[in-house]
Amino acid sequence: MKKLTILGSTGSIGTQTLDVVNSDREAYEIQGLAAGSNIKLLIEQAKHFQPKVVCVSSKALAEEAKPYLPAGTSVVYGEEGLIEIAAGTDADTVVTAIVGSRGLNATLAAINEGKHIGLANKETLVTAGHIVMKQAKARGVKILPIDSEHSAIFQCLNGEIRSTVKAITLTASGGSFRDRTRKELEGVTVKEALNHPNWSMGAKITIDSATMANKGLEVIEAHWLFNLSYEQINVLLHPESIIHSYVEFIDNSIIAQLGLPDMRVPIQYALTYPDRQPTPTESLNLAKIAALHFREMDFDRYPCLRMAFDSGKAGQSAPTVFNAANETAVARFLGGEITFLDIERVIETVLSRHIIVDVPDVQSIAEVDAWARKEASLV
Ligand code: NAD
Ligand code: MG
Repeated sequence: MKKLTILGSTGSIGTQTLDVVNSDREAYEIQGLAAGSNIKLLIEQAKHFQPKVVCVSSKALAEEAKPYLPAGTSVVYGEEGLIEIAAGTDADTVVTAIVGSRGLNATLAAINEGKHIGLANKETLVTAGHIVMKQAKARGVKILPIDSEHSAIFQCLNGEIRSTVKAITLTASGGSFRDRTRKELEGVTVKEALNHPNWSMGAKITIDSATMANKGLEVIEAHWLFNLSYEQINVLLHPESIIHSYVEFIDNSIIAQLGLPDMRVPIQYALTYPDRQPTPTESLNLAKIAALHFREMDFDRYPCLRMAFDSGKAGQSAPTVFNAANETAVARFLGGEITFLDIERVIETVLSRHIIVDVPDVQSIAEVDAWARKEASLV
């Protein structure tokens, strides 16, 4: 039986992870569930899955939730509570499904306690990839990708040695505005941006998909997960999201992973690896899909992707700044404070002002992150 703790259990990835758990109740035990402020859903989840502990974002919410939790479930809160729930239960695997670099400390705490990570929270790898990967290696912990592209690459690489890999290609659906020109992006609304054609996801990643910042974050995520140079990582537009990504080997053989867009497949693979089990999803009928399309990635159309590659190549503290500036800019766009095209302008300005910190430690990353957020909130 697999013992799980889920950070961000009420979100898109969190609820789909619990869906997977529900489809094979005997295979899993839920140790901990952490959410932000949706205590109504968290209480429902606690009643159903009987975790030992739940976590919410504030003391007030913890007190509000307490009377409704099952007798055997305790409640913790805040940043400290998140670290406690990530590291302090008997879970063997922690699914990181909260949004943003705020997941970093809890992820590191879980790794430190020797817990395997089912990684959805890509921002932690982007902001501190060198630290997360080094600590995981030192503790003998697996970082199992949940992001669909990275799960695809992970599955395609299965058993292959790195020296046989020529390159990998991450596919990109293009998000809500893939068929619009840059001119047509002026004045787009939050509602339009939140309308993703293929995937139903949290607000932040949906906006990231429209700006292509998401693919940029994924390029950096892939660099760390698979130990590949940025020259070995390609991005291809593929509107149908059927080929989730592929690996080209040195003999020009390509192995791709395909399936209907449903996150429960990569989520479950991260939980059952190295085994495969049936999933509560639909099977792909290629004859029904009939045609798959591909377009070369246009870096002028998607400057956020260009900036992500540049930040990744610069390394050190640059990806931390790219990520934090993006998180702040997206929050400002969602709050109606700036326009869609301002998101890239904010990131570009903050990156241009940043003086790189070499090999940042956790403390420097926190400082750089805070600096970038402050700058991004003002420009
Ligand atoms: P979401 O907004 O739907 O869910 C976020 C979750 O985090 C919620 O449960 C929320 O309550 C919780 N949360 C917020 N603040 C918190 C806090 N202070 N403490 C604890 N929990 C808190 O987001 P999502 O779409 O599920 O994305 C989660 C992560 O997975 C992101 O990093 C995203 O990039 C990644 N991801 C998502 C998808 C997808 O299909 N949704 C695909 C690939 C990767
Ligand atoms: Mg993805």
